[in-house]
Amino acid sequence: MNSTAMKSFIDVPPDSHFPIQNLPFGVFRRQTGDASVGTAIGNHVVDLRALEAANLLRLKAVNGRDLFAHPSLNAFMGAGRAAWREARQILTLLLREDHTTLRDNRKLRDAAIVPFDEVTMLLPCQIGDYTDFYSSLEHATNVGTMFRGKDNALMPNWLHLPVGYHGRSSSIVISGTDLHRPHGQTKSDDAPAPSFGPSRNVDFELEMGFFVGPGNELGRPIPTTAARDHIFGLVLVNDWSARDIQKWEYVPLGPFLAKNFGTSISPWIVTLDALEPFICPGPRQDPPPLPYLKMDEPFSFDVQLEVSLQSEKMSAPHVVCRSNFRHLYWNMAQQLAHHTVNGCNTRPGDLLASGTISGPTPDSYGSMLELAWMRTRPIELPNGETRVAINDGDRITMTGFCEREGLRIGFGGVTGQILPARTG
Ligand code: MN
Repeated sequence: MNSTAMKSFIDVPPDSHFPIQNLPFGVFRRQTGDASVGTAIGNHVVDLRALEAANLLRLKAVNGRDLFAHPSLNAFMGAGRAAWREARQILTLLLREDHTTLRDNRKLRDAAIVPFDEVTMLLPCQIGDYTDFYSSLEHATNVGTMFRGKDNALMPNWLHLPVGYHGRSSSIVISGTDLHRPHGQTKSDDAPAPSFGPSRNVDFELEMGFFVGPGNELGRPIPTTAARDHIFGLVLVNDWSARDIQKWEYVPLGPFLAKNFGTSISPWIVTLDALEPFICPGPRQDPPPLPYLKMDEPFSFDVQLEVSLQSEKMSAPHVVCRSNFRHLYWNMAQQLAHHTVNGCNTRPGDLLASGTISGPTPDSYGSMLELAWMRTRPIELPNGETRVAINDGDRITMTGFCEREGLRIGFGGVTGQILPARTG
């Protein structure tokens, strides 16, 4: 049976992001009960702790020890690629329409298979460290043009290394978490002194991020050729940003409070194995990168991305951006190689985000800063409202999926609303 035609005994609607060929990993909680590791199929969660307890998911790669009886994925992430592949193989078999072990075990099915609407998704792991890159040439060029003019748009380092900064993991939140408009210090160009108050320029950033599986020891870099052994899988990321706070604070050390009031991620981690059919070349890199950043094989992925905005007055979300992960100039292997080339260690559950994913056309820009070109070209919404930044009550939703020859491997979505600034 070829893998595109393979089906599960669990119903998968045609537009679902989660066919049997996907099998992403996440952490969920039933209305009553503890958190558990699960996979998604169709509109259902499959409880991996229950399968492990029934001895159907004991992995040889870790001598059968418990990997899923935890409220987080860190142990499984750290177990490595052999364990990930073995779990994927076993789950594929257990969920196939022609395999009877789980299909015909009514009691276990009732215990292990739960509809989406009966669970709450949680953060998939303890995220030790969070790094955010700046890997879209289009985004870096747009922002550089706005702030420094066309001739100085790209900093001299940009084409030679994946620029990044250390973010804050404590404020990473799961999709569905709403955030209050942050307070901070801002200063307009003509004001003599800074002022303090709610940000007047809250924005989204369309990003994707990858979770580190096994880390590297302090002092031992991860070469680009070993990236696949260290990348567990990908999620969607909304790197909420307060542009007015950012503009005043970022010199000379980079983003700080403009970024760490909240970063939202989608709940299901899609593995590299599931994404393998959608590998594609990234943009040509000119000048050629230094040897430690060189990649001989394609390592970009064709993920169609979409951002929508829904104001409190709108009855449905409106798409404001369509982009693609493949536009990124620096790929994940290069990001990881660069991050560790000085010996910096990474650990299971670390999150490395891509940076805003802008494409070449104005409708593919991955932030409102660019879509509304620094507040000069308001975004028009179908009900007549306009936006140059996010208003209180606006909901931002990002989705993404790969699709080819009837196979759709998706990420679900990441959504969140900006609530009014807290008073007092
Ligand atoms: Mn960012």
